[in-house]
Amino acid sequence: MNRREFLKYSFAAALGLGFPMLLPSHAQAARLEKPPVHRYFLQFTDHEERPSTDFLVIHHTGFPSDKDSTAEEIHSFHQGTMKWAGIGYHYLIRKDGMIEQGRWPSLVGAHALGHNKTSVGICLAGNFNLAKPTRAQVASLCQLTAWLCQEYELDPMKRGVIVGHRDLNDTDCPGKNLYSLLKGIRQSCRETLSFHMQERGGFDHSGELHS
Ligand SMILES: [Zn+2]
Repeated sequence: MNRREFLKYSFAAALGLGFPMLLPSHAQAARLEKPPVHRYFLQFTDHEERPSTDFLVIHHTGFPSDKDSTAEEIHSFHQGTMKWAGIGYHYLIRKDGMIEQGRWPSLVGAHALGHNKTSVGICLAGNFNLAKPTRAQVASLCQLTAWLCQEYELDPMKRGVIVGHRDLNDTDCPGKNLYSLLKGIRQSCRETLSFHMQERGGFDHSGELHS
């Protein structure tokens, strides 16, 4: 059941009970909370609003050695060396799991050629052809992708919604050791979101309305 169908069904059920106002307040209360995101005050040379958000693209920094990087360092590299408006990714996840804000979330990024106007770019610090992402990075990635799917009303299990950069362009990004985790990350998002949907509507596993 998608969110729209779910809301329609729940609203019909609530009306039947004579409490049509009950559902919206529950719906607000049980939304998945935004994970903590650290912000720098990065200056960009251009600000173009993204017309739509249809999918999330997962990257690694992919430097020759598997090292940690900050969003600020990537920003200097993309702006100074690449001559872009600033950091191309919307989010960077450090090796300790901290999520850092890159490009402002509503703006067009610079991370997947030909797909930037319709996607959010998430980068994990490291080279995942050489090493594996840390547990903390994977946990933060699951939290962040689930929250983004909620905010943009995306179904994480739908084909093409959570993809690796290599699915779109000629690159090995995000590295074989991160790419191989994407299936589990989609499933984790689905479980997190369906848990919150149950909380919102008061449905149990059988789909019955709680009294
Ligand atoms: Zn990439």
